[in-house]
Amino acid sequence: MPVTDTLTRPLKDLRISVLDRCNLRCTYCMPEESLHARGVFLRPHYLLSDGEIELLVRVFAGLGVHKVRLTGGEPLLRPGFVELVSRISAIEGITDLALTSNAILLPRHAEALKKAGLGRITVSLDSLDESVFRIMAGDRGSVKEVLDGIEAAELAGFKHLKINTVVQRNINDHTIMDLVAHFRHSGHTVRLIEFMDVGNVNNWNRELVLPSADLLKTIHDRWPLHPVAEQPVGETARRYAFNDGAGQIGFISSITEPFCGDCSRARITADGVFYSCLFSAKGTVLRDRIRDGLGADEMTEVIRELWTRRADRYSELRSHLPRHQQHVEMYRMGG
Ligand code: SAM
Ligand code: SF4
Ligand code: SF4
Repeated sequence: MPVTDTLTRPLKDLRISVLDRCNLRCTYCMPEESLHARGVFLRPHYLLSDGEIELLVRVFAGLGVHKVRLTGGEPLLRPGFVELVSRISAIEGITDLALTSNAILLPRHAEALKKAGLGRITVSLDSLDESVFRIMAGDRGSVKEVLDGIEAAELAGFKHLKINTVVQRNINDHTIMDLVAHFRHSGHTVRLIEFMDVGNVNNWNRELVLPSADLLKTIHDRWPLHPVAEQPVGETARRYAFNDGAGQIGFISSITEPFCGDCSRARITADGVFYSCLFSAKGTVLRDRIRDGLGADEMTEVIRELWTRRADRYSELRSHLPRHQQHVEMYRMGG
């Protein structure tokens, strides 16, 4: 029997941030100046080890989770990441193992990841315009590096990538049509994400949020779209298909059209803290309990209890909550 929360939402997905470091400094996630002000990344011994991650995934699999997403920070910077992937992909019950990455290191690792059992890759790319990309990535990386990463994933046999694009008004919105045009007919699905108020350092401001409905209209006027009939339950993006058969596009509209109703995602930070919502202020430390000797059966009961008590629906309540609530940073929690 799957474990359900107070709103009868089953526990189905697990997202694990495998480290908090990154080779980019996206302004909406990890702005460079905030890091200088706030100090350092987690030291290695604070990070969950491969064995600790494996134990947790086994526990979640035992509770009915089939889908695991590895994220960060930039997961490909974690030493031994490919080995970690092969350990997780071998766990009974895990049928869908996915990675979210900025793709810069994919040329080095894509083939090995495929062999290790990684099933799917989501690549983040905010613009094909080099100067806009550099502004959003904190003056690091390049469009070419990301496109090379995408090509490496394709060559390694990853089909149907998701391309995550955070849209910010007056920053990259004027480059979205080019990006959509580029990926039409590619087999990959661009997902346009409303800039979210995650973390505390990205200077979130509602004026920077471009509602998905506006973007949908602009894209539909250029390339007519229709909603995809079968929206998978728990999928964060609302999908549309191009009428001319060029593929699909998705919208992740956490600000204007919250989707807490079927949110089935649990999250674990790189230092082993469990959160039941992307916007939680407080989590439950699991790492120290594992290090104190808690076994899989006891951990199963801990997670079951946490999920049973879950009542989160932050996005639905956002407008009624006080501004400037403390949240965990996205690069620590994982997107
Ligand atoms: N470094 C990897 C990457 O960028 O793909 C994985 C981690 S990143 C935190 C995961 C996803 O969160 C990315 O697609 C990123 O664009 C998204 N993200 C980060 N901050 C965001 C924000 N403030 N609003 C919306 N999406 C955000
Ligand atoms: Fe790094 Fe991803 Fe955050 Fe950008 S969104 S700073 S690539 S963790
Ligand atoms: Fe899930 Fe929290 Fe996002 Fe709602 S706000 S969809 S509960 S992660």
